[in-house]
Amino acid sequence: MDTLTTGRLVIVDDNENDALLIVDRLRESGLHQIEWERVQDEQGLQGALARGCDLVLCDHSMPGFNGVRALQLVRSWDEDLPLIFVSGTIGEETAVEAMRLGARDYVLKENLTRLVPAVQRELSENLQRRERRQLDAQHQALERERSRLAMVLNATPDLVAIAYPDGRLDYLNDTGRRLLGVAPDDLLSSHHLGDLFSEHDATCLLHEAFPAALRDGHWLGEIELPGRNGAAPLPLSKLVVAHRDETGEADFLALVARDISERKRFEAELHHQATHDRLTGLPNRFLLLDRLTAELGHVRRHGGIAAVMFLDLDNFKRVNDTLGHAIGDQVLRQIAGRIRGCLRPTDTAARHGGDEFTIAIGRLQRVEDALAVLRNIRTAFERPVMAGNHEMFITFSIGIALFPNDGDEVETLLRNADTAMYRAKSGGRNQYRFYAPAMNQRGHELLSLESDLRRAIEREEFELFYQPQISIDDGRIRAFEALIRWNHPQRGLVSPADFLGLLEDTGLILTVGEWVLRRACAQVRQWRETLAPSLRITVNVSPVQFAEPAFPDRVQAAMAEFSTPAGVLELEITENLMMGDPQGTGLMLRQLQQQGVRIAIDDFGIGYSSLSYLKHFPVQILKIDRSFIAELLDRPDDAAIVEASVFLGHKLGLEVAAEGVETMAQYDVLRRLGCDLAQGYY
Ligand code: C2E
Ligand code: CA
Ligand code: CA
Repeated sequence: MDTLTTGRLVIVDDNENDALLIVDRLRESGLHQIEWERVQDEQGLQGALARGCDLVLCDHSMPGFNGVRALQLVRSWDEDLPLIFVSGTIGEETAVEAMRLGARDYVLKENLTRLVPAVQRELSENLQRRERRQLDAQHQALERERSRLAMVLNATPDLVAIAYPDGRLDYLNDTGRRLLGVAPDDLLSSHHLGDLFSEHDATCLLHEAFPAALRDGHWLGEIELPGRNGAAPLPLSKLVVAHRDETGEADFLALVARDISERKRFEAELHHQATHDRLTGLPNRFLLLDRLTAELGHVRRHGGIAAVMFLDLDNFKRVNDTLGHAIGDQVLRQIAGRIRGCLRPTDTAARHGGDEFTIAIGRLQRVEDALAVLRNIRTAFERPVMAGNHEMFITFSIGIALFPNDGDEVETLLRNADTAMYRAKSGGRNQYRFYAPAMNQRGHELLSLESDLRRAIEREEFELFYQPQISIDDGRIRAFEALIRWNHPQRGLVSPADFLGLLEDTGLILTVGEWVLRRACAQVRQWRETLAPSLRITVNVSPVQFAEPAFPDRVQAAMAEFSTPAGVLELEITENLMMGDPQGTGLMLRQLQQQGVRIAIDDFGIGYSSLSYLKHFPVQILKIDRSFIAELLDRPDDAAIVEASVFLGHKLGLEVAAEGVETMAQYDVLRRLGCDLAQGYY
């Protein structure tokens, strides 16, 4: 340390010469620049202390003042200000007392050799002490500032964090800890932004926001915090600011994120209001146009058709006029709900104003699928609508336009559906019209056939016909195939080709199929008792029935009800069924087999399955499709297919039957080819 050459001294002495002597001595020894003043009483000392002082040199006994008193004054002024007694002989006791009271040293006036080092030591210690004190004070001020800032940061409702460019966290305020689920006593060093945000948001932060902030200084965007404990996700606006050190290197990034769920809710609410009908909550015209455009795009890309329906309530004006607008509004709301319930999530029902509704339906495979929606709407409004204590039946006039047939553009389709609706209206209430006249005929037929079908079940208009299946060897009847007919009151006997599709589309096949099964079981029991005890019955099963997991139970129940023994009931399925879901089909077939049911593959040869494929399924009999039998004699190809089927079927341990045998010649060929069973008009 450099030797001090300066300092401010206060010399307490009644003798000016003594004081000068001391100062001379100090200046001679290198303390050239010291300032000093001499005082000799209490008042003088206080004044000097107030003017500033680094060291007090004090005589011990003075007239009217004394060293002990001076020491007290100095101490009460400043705990650390050093004081050295410089005095004539004082007693040892007094010296000890002086040291006890806090003097740093004492030097005899007669021997000033020790004075210089003592003064130098005290001055430099005092300087150090002063510097330390200054540092302490600065530190305290900094600390106070830091803790205030932390208080402010913790009190803000925003998330504030400091992170490094690699995603390590350095600071997180209380709000941040709460939002990100970091416990107050969790060490931040154990966390990484990647763990605290969803994968998507972490990627966005680290690979988009941080690089952008480092490049441009800051980044502003929105992210979404995953909802904790089942809460909804929290949208946040986020500001990332990059901070650099003196060299310009990226040092750290500050993140400030604000909960903007309130704003988002508000925006969503505004958006909803702008795109929905206030009364019913259904989409309005604008949203409908949007959605319809999107649906047409989908159909253009993926094929299929789309439909636009215009619904106009019949006689709604009367409801408003007689029951008032409040009731009218209630009715409209209920109608909206019911229409909505008839549609799939991708369809859109919109209120077009007043009592008009528009429905946009995309992704239809066939025109019939549009009829399914009509059907649903009809069914939904079979029940009356209740409003207040009024009960009313609601009917619509409906116009339908199809894409792409009836127009290529949204506007054209809407206009054509509207035109069709006016035509429906002119036909009376509760009518619908397609824009294209050809569709009306067809749609009408299908829909009326459907309502007839529903009635047919109640009125028991179905009937089973039985076709015998005979053993080619001996010509004896082995089984009967049950074939359904519909005894239509006007059309007479309708064959299954004309109504099976509709039964399947509407799901009515489940009821009808079960009826067939039970009738067949009842019939075979009677024949086994009266005709031949070994007779079997074979029943056709639709894929829709087969798709129902409860199907084996239904079969079981029918067999139990009519005590059908094992090996008597045979179910005919088509090979395509097995190709669709081989695993599910296999499971179901095995279950049926365990219940004593025989399985036949119907229409064999026209599907895609190979014979070798069949060996994985518990099948007992193959029925060669009648198209191969029809030209058995004329087309060598068909004969070859039949021959191969018989040969391979036998190899797999299956019985082989031929259907559609109409002539004796066919019968003879089949016998020659080794076919086991035959059925047909012959
Ligand atoms: P399928 O199972 O191939 O039934 C044989 C069809 O061929 C029957 O027509 C039958 O009348 C007809 N047929 C019988 N012998 C001859 C013949 O020598 N020559 C010609 N050309 N045809 C003959 P049907 O009764 O009209 O049945 C048509 C289809 O409807 C059946 O084809 C079957 O897949 C289905 N089906 C019939 N009844 C039912 C039923 O109860 N439930 C289910 N799910 N489907 C049924
Ligand atoms: Ca059949
Ligand atoms: Ca067949």
